[in-house]
Amino acid sequence: MNAIPTSRTGQAISTAKLLIDGEFTESRTTEWRDIVNPATQEVLARVPFATKEEVDAAIRCAHAAFDTWKKTPVGARVRIMLKYQALIREHMPRIAKTLSAEQGKTVPDAEGDIFRGLEVVEHACSIGTLQQGEFAENVAGSVDTYTLRQPIGVCAGITPFNFPAMIPLWMFPMAIVCGNTFVLKPSEQDPLSTMQLVELAIEAGVPKGVLNVVHGGKEVVDALCTHELVKAISFVGSTAVGTHVYNLGSQHGKRVQSMMGAKNHAVVLPDANREQTLNALAGAGFGAAGQRCMATSVVVLVGASKDWLPELVEKAKTLKVNAGHEPKTDVGPVVSRTAKERILGLIEAGVKEGATLALDGRDVKVPGYEGGNFVGPTIFSDVTTEMEIYTTEIFGPVLCVMTVPTLDNAIALVNSNPMGNGVGLFTQSGAAARKFQSEIDIGQVGINIPIPVPVPYFSFTGSRGSKLGDLGPYGKQVVQFYTQTKTVTARWFEDGTTAGPVNTTIRLG
Ligand code: NAD
Repeated sequence: MNAIPTSRTGQAISTAKLLIDGEFTESRTTEWRDIVNPATQEVLARVPFATKEEVDAAIRCAHAAFDTWKKTPVGARVRIMLKYQALIREHMPRIAKTLSAEQGKTVPDAEGDIFRGLEVVEHACSIGTLQQGEFAENVAGSVDTYTLRQPIGVCAGITPFNFPAMIPLWMFPMAIVCGNTFVLKPSEQDPLSTMQLVELAIEAGVPKGVLNVVHGGKEVVDALCTHELVKAISFVGSTAVGTHVYNLGSQHGKRVQSMMGAKNHAVVLPDANREQTLNALAGAGFGAAGQRCMATSVVVLVGASKDWLPELVEKAKTLKVNAGHEPKTDVGPVVSRTAKERILGLIEAGVKEGATLALDGRDVKVPGYEGGNFVGPTIFSDVTTEMEIYTTEIFGPVLCVMTVPTLDNAIALVNSNPMGNGVGLFTQSGAAARKFQSEIDIGQVGINIPIPVPVPYFSFTGSRGSKLGDLGPYGKQVVQFYTQTKTVTARWFEDGTTAGPVNTTIRLG
């Protein structure tokens, strides 16, 4: 961490700005961190760790803006989202370039990252029907009951490094369109593309104070979780931090949803389409350098499909490891040197614990990018459930392969893993698929689909160890999360009189 935001070479390096009360401002902090291109180690910009006063100011501005924003008609909110989705579409190539440079993923993956977020903005345009309440007429004589879905106030969002476009877009568009105001804390590792999306939101007409941004790490996050004016917190990131945020926020009376770590299995039955399955496994295991919360990290070969391992290794060998902006790259660098060291340490642990290293990606060479944080596709076979490579989320391009005799054994294996984000089944048998979807205890199931992330008109429904809080991001669930239900029971008299003081209790029985 550096003391002041100046360049080592004397050249100006740009800084990520805070957004407070509609103004993009330079932080007054003395704590800054470099934002580094993971393929080249070039410093792209610096990000401030906002001061306590700046975080407080952002929350107070959001609180002040809430009163007017919650009364802004639905149609006006929707028209901002309509403009916003058009702007994101227009600027996608520019944002994808920034995203690839700061995060490392390939440009097509970066476009996918933005596109999946854009779909949430598109869905936000349907809030007119999504936020409708319920109405029951004549529940007693001249009495009607109806519900209002009202916004809750200042909401905060804390996002991870691996989807700097999609995950912020899971959060603030839906929160805002429901009538809330928002304070976003992007990942400090790659906030530049997130900020480009925030700038477009302001250009689309989000009024001042309705969306605010503070940067930082633990101190900023803890300030959001404990501030009296924050009503709800959406978190996406690792299990350790998500659990901390959930506990701290809940202790301070906030509504919290935490989407956390994963260990996603892909179960392969021998009747599956071999070519398509192997392609899907290679893409889901090694794409985005394995840094997806829905990446496949364990392949479970059932019965005779155990013989497919050599072909999976051959497929993985064909993937091209290179900088994300280079054409035809399949696997970019991992996000940081620290992340690379951690992944290499876990591969070493797997070797020591007796797993077979069927493909070793540790010494991958990328000409022209010798300093990049590259790890090539790596495959372990003979993995057991006690090994660290099985019990830990590696979050890199490393696949663990296990074999079991039957589908029942595979279901038992997956269900005994504490994580519940995603799972895939590869088969041509409808009966096997139906049994699997019914008996598997994982929140998101793919059948011949390796990364089953639901589209935005459903919700992201990771379960068990991958989630705390009952409502997931986007879709109908998040409308519930970002609103509170008020139930009104009303009686009107035809002659215009009201119920007298002795007659105010409505008898429903
Ligand atoms: P992370 O938990 O390190 O960081 C997430 C956020 O928390 C960042 O904004 C960071 O600044 C903040 N943070 C970091 N340390 C903190 C601390 N000690 N106290 C308070 N806040 C802190 O996660 P990451 O490395 O950025 O992202 C990768 C993780 O996110 C993986 O575990 C992945 O599975 C998970 N993830 C989950 C989902 C999902 O939907 N379940 C989606 C994407 C990523």
